Amino acid sequence: MDNKRRIYVLQDLTPEVRAVTFAKCSRSPEPFDQIAKDLTAEKSAEFHEKWVVGFGHSSVAEHAVLSVAFENVSILATKVLEDTRLASFTEKSTRYQVFNRDKCYYPANIMASEFKDLYVSTISSLFNFYEKLESPMMDFVKQKYPQEKKQADLVYKSITKSRACDNIRYLLPAATLTSLGMTINARAFEHLLVKLLSHPLQEMNDIGREAKERGLDEVPTLIKFADSNQYLQESAGAVRETVKTLKKSTHSESPVVLVDYDQEAENKIFAALLYRESQLSYQEIFKQVKNWSQQQKEEFLTKVNQSRTKFDQLLREFEHAYYTFDILMDYGAFRDIQRHRMATQTNQRVTVVHGYETPNEIIEAGFKDKFVAVMENAQSAYSKIVEKFPEEAQYLVPLAYRKRLLITWNLRELSHFVPLRSGQKGHASYRRIAQLVWDELNKIHPLLAKYVAVDKSDQTTSWASTMYSEEFVYNPHKAREERKSNENKS
Ligand SMILES: Cc1cc2nc3c(=O)[nH]c(=O)nc-3n(C[C@H](O)[C@H](O)[C@H](O)COP(=O)(O)OP(=O)(O)OC[C@H]3O[C@@H](n4cnc5c(N)ncnc54)[C@H](O)[C@@H]3O)c2cc1C
Repeated sequence: MDNKRRIYVLQDLTPEVRAVTFAKCSRSPEPFDQIAKDLTAEKSAEFHEKWVVGFGHSSVAEHAVLSVAFENVSILATKVLEDTRLASFTEKSTRYQVFNRDKCYYPANIMASEFKDLYVSTISSLFNFYEKLESPMMDFVKQKYPQEKKQADLVYKSITKSRACDNIRYLLPAATLTSLGMTINARAFEHLLVKLLSHPLQEMNDIGREAKERGLDEVPTLIKFADSNQYLQESAGAVRETVKTLKKSTHSESPVVLVDYDQEAENKIFAALLYRESQLSYQEIFKQVKNWSQQQKEEFLTKVNQSRTKFDQLLREFEHAYYTFDILMDYGAFRDIQRHRMATQTNQRVTVVHGYETPNEIIEAGFKDKFVAVMENAQSAYSKIVEKFPEEAQYLVPLAYRKRLLITWNLRELSHFVPLRSGQKGHASYRRIAQLVWDELNKIHPLLAKYVAVDKSDQTTSWASTMYSEEFVYNPHKAREERKSNENKS
């Protein structure tokens, strides 16, 4: 019998055949490439029909991966699409590209109603000002941040554009059409389709239907039963009944409120770290670490993390502690924060009730009054439309308006989010949120907060010319090289 190790990539197979090739290794002694040779599209479809669809072995569908391109979908829709944890996304940036007034979503039911003109004129007023601001904001940021001597012209041009876009993006309505690339396995894709098909908005239903049609070309068996779901559709209505009974409170809150956290976070993490290297039960260890002195705790964490560089994620045991935040932020910042998938997120509808952010540079450039007027105009239109069209009214809301997000992070994801999003190359709006999140952590668990790097410099003097700045994003290759070079030096 051949016992030589073989590692290879399956090539030239359709997603469904690839999935069956792996699924069959559970019962077949044949090597994978032999299994694949014996398969046809029809045989694979039969297999999926029986095992995945019939017996519910859904994990098999995870081996069938699709790359789906979504073009001209609204900004509102991308957030529904990206509310899918087990998928990968890249979306057209509002920070690096200028958007176009001709690409906007007009909901059919509003267009057929008495609010048609109001909707169209509100979108138009937002885009008028967006377009009008582009050039003066470019001039303003050029003056504020002149080209550095060593800076290449092309780099400066791109940085200047992103500085201007960072300001004008606040005007973009959620109806703005954009593009999104998604890589997703068929199991997660089916869940997404169900969510889209059950959504109260027509655009999501249409996207769901089209995505299913296109997806069926690639995975004809695995998503064919994706349909709207009564539980998803009706539970929201049932919850809304009870929402009506809640009392409103008027007390003002910080934009970042830590609403719940693990009181035993430190001890849980110590116990989990020790658990991995011992044969004792968790409870035996936990009882002992609870009696550690502050000095013991500090020494232990220092020892465990002594070889960690800024490129290394914390060890997985740091996931045993959780923190839940209620965050109130502008819609632009929300769009970026929502992208962090290792978290549990609960989202509220896009609204105008929490007011809006006015970027400092728009004020400095002398456009505050006009900005306020355009925002108030959008708010007034939203308020008129929302009663009859509570879902569709969201499309009118510009990115400057605030919304809420309830998010539960484990400490390891928090230690990824805070450095990435507080860094100087980020947008000021989410930098502030990341800094406040760290402050909250530091108040309750200063010992653990030491291991979560934060950039507290508020001066956003240097900016990324591309989204993947080397210093900004964890880079295992660079970390390895840096470590090697340090070893050679010592
Ligand atoms: C300055 C800046 C500019 C950006 N510009 C853009 C942009 O123009 N367009 C855009 O679309 N996005 C942009 N992003 C968002 C960015 O690409 C990420 O989607 C976002 O920051 C989420 O972080 P993350 O990918 O590290 O993963 P998280 O979702 O926070 O997950 C944490 C970690 O878990 C692992 N992980 C999670 N899911 C997967 C997975 N499916 N496969 C493999 N590993 C996984 C990774 O190690 C990841 O780092 C930008 C981010 C920054 C900071």
